[in-house]
Order: sequence, then structure tokens, then C-alpha cells
Amino acid sequence: MAQALSWIELDSQALTHNLRLFKAGLSKDTRLMAVVKGEGYGHGMLQVAQAAAQGGADWLGVFHLAEGIKLREAGMKQPILILGYVPLGDLAEAIDFDLRITVSSIESIQTAALAAKKSGKTAFLHLKVETGTHRLGLDKENLEQALTLIDEQPLLELEGAHTHFANIEDTTEHDYAKEQLERFKQIIGHIRKQGFQVPLPHTACTAAAVLFPETHFAVARVGIGIYGLWPSKETYLSALLKDKQTPELQPAMCWKTIVVQIKQVPTGAYVGYGCSYRTTRPTRLAILPVGYANGYDRLLSNRGHVLIDGKRAPIRGRVCMNLCMVDITDIPNVALENEVVLLGGQGKERITAEQMAAWAQTINYEVVTRADPHAPRRLVTKETRGPS
Ligand SMILES: *Cc1c(COP(=O)(O)O)cnc(C)c1O
Repeated sequence: MAQALSWIELDSQALTHNLRLFKAGLSKDTRLMAVVKGEGYGHGMLQVAQAAAQGGADWLGVFHLAEGIKLREAGMKQPILILGYVPLGDLAEAIDFDLRITVSSIESIQTAALAAKKSGKTAFLHLKVETGTHRLGLDKENLEQALTLIDEQPLLELEGAHTHFANIEDTTEHDYAKEQLERFKQIIGHIRKQGFQVPLPHTACTAAAVLFPETHFAVARVGIGIYGLWPSKETYLSALLKDKQTPELQPAMCWKTIVVQIKQVPTGAYVGYGCSYRTTRPTRLAILPVGYANGYDRLLSNRGHVLIDGKRAPIRGRVCMNLCMVDITDIPNVALENEVVLLGGQGKERITAEQMAAWAQTINYEVVTRADPHAPRRLVTKETRGPS
């Protein structure tokens, strides 16, 4: 098989460490759901799911039916919740693969009832309720009808009910999240009054799991944190203000490539499309086989850095579709096919997802999720990680 020009190494010890941290931060009665949607936030869904299961995750969370099926076909036995929308025509398949289904509309519940009846299998539903995010979520006006429909069909089981906070990562003021939490508690109280047990209410994402134990309920849905990243500076600051110390998360992703050409250019030479960079000294360039088609953001043009031999090499000129150029004038002894770190650590240096996010005007979530989907993902341990 052809050698990959870029690849992603996942630090399995970091993943395990992060999972244990979150697990330890939850009460005995709260289960940990590892959220592996978006191909495991770009880390590789199967690799992360397997590491998560070994590290003590009780549940797995995906967005699509197809992701849930992929996990089942890989032999994952954990309960899996589809957090996103399952098309009406696919509900039967979701039930068949024993996937927990998030429902947020009357139509979905009606169709799930028909599908469950037809297959004779129980459908485990998690009702997503609207509390103020105004994204997926059943409106208050439809709650009675939804409960009646579930009540009428014995093969529909209301296993859970959940909501998602709108404004918990972006601020150190959490009034809005607290309002949502109060609304959620009222709704759960109301559903239970109607005679439903709702064994698994859940609300917490990473930020909520870290900051507010009162959001934990039966399941904490932790995504970004298990990959070793903080949801935001504000969350980090809030945790620091609250507890004077913060959990030591360890980033798990290292994205690497190789040098595919080295060249010397004189002072005054232009580099790349649009001649957007002109050298001010005799310059040595290394050419890297990674560009925006690989998820290496074009906003990194003339702005980002990579690591070679443990040192920073700045990007010169524009990031192309499949290539970019970096300045290695100050890094002696770089050779063809030397390893380059695009994201992650090498020697004493590190390019963090947060730094890359700042260069690309986005958030760390997007940086890791967009890392080249075609690059192979390899789980590595300290022993197999090699020299860098
Ligand atoms: C993605 C997602 C999460 C995880 O959020 P993080 O901030 O990554 O922990 C939790 N719940 C829902 C509904 C989600 O879509």
C-alpha cells in the first residue's frame, strides 16, 4: 500500500488518562459517555471508541446512524446513543442495531412506534427537550402528545431525556446555563409525574461536567475533554476560579507529515501562489505535502508554524491545495523525508490546537475535527511513539 503523506498519531496513554480524570470527577451513579461523533473529533472514531471502552467509558455518543452501525460492526458492545437526527425511514434500522435514539419530534416517535411494532424489538428513546438552545429539541407544546404516544406503545421505552447547554463554554457567567438547567429539571419532574421513570436524564457536556456537578445526572456526555482539550479559555478560567486548580488534560492528537523537498532561494525570491511572500535573506525552504484539501487551513498562510527537529518553522507564502512551504533557514541538517509535526509536540516545542485555532480564526474543536480525514490514525504508546 502507498505510504501516507500525512498521518495522525493518537497517544493512547493520554486518552486513558483523560477518561480516568473525567470518570473520577463523576459520582458513582453517573455514567461516562464518550462522545465520538465527527470521526472521534477527527481523532479516528473506532480507535477512540476502543480506547474509551478500555478506559472506562460506559456509553458512546455519535451523531449519525451510520456511525452507530460502524461501531456495532466493529464489535462495540456499549450502549450507543445517536445524538443527532435519524431520518424516519432509518428508524427501523437504528432499532435493529440496538442503538439508542434521540427523538425530538412527534413524527419520529410515531414512526419509531411503527418500526418497533413491526420488528417486535424495544426501541430505547431519549427525548431531547428544548430548554433554550433552540437547536434540536421537543417544544413544550408537544410534550404531552409525545408522552401519550410513548405510553401507548409498549415497545417504546423512554430510557432517557436530555438537553444541551447553549452558553456554557463561551462565558464565565453561567446564568443562562443555570436557567436551562432549571427548565430541564421542571420538565423531568413533569414527565415523572405522568408515571414515566426516565432512568437516564442527562445534560452535561465537557464544560458542564468540569464546572457543575449538579448537571451530571445519570450520564455525562464528554467530548472535547477526553481528547485532552479544554472547551475554551473561559471554561479553563472558570474551573480555576472555582477550584483553584484544574484537571490536567493531555492532548491526544499529533498530526505529522514529511519533508518532500528542500531548496535554497536567494534574497528577494517570491514563494508560492500570488507571490504573497518575498524572502528578505538567503532562505532554505522545506516543501510539505499538506494543504487545505487535507484540512490544513489556508488561513495559516504566512502565519502558522510547523515543527521540524523540535524547532518552529514558519509557513511562507500561501497554503496550497496539497502543499505548503516552510522556512528552515535556522534549522540546520533537515533532510528529505524528515518528520514534521503540524499539530502536537516535538522535542520541547508544541503546536497546540488552540494556537492553530487562533491562526485559523476558529476553535480547537474545528481544528482537530478537520484534520485530514484520509490520513491514517495510529494509536501509539510512549514505547512505540518513536523519537519525537
Ligand atoms: C457534541 C456534543 C456533546 C459533547 O460536547 P463537548 O463540549 O465536546 O464535551 C455533548 N452533547 C451533545 C448533544 C453534543 O452534540
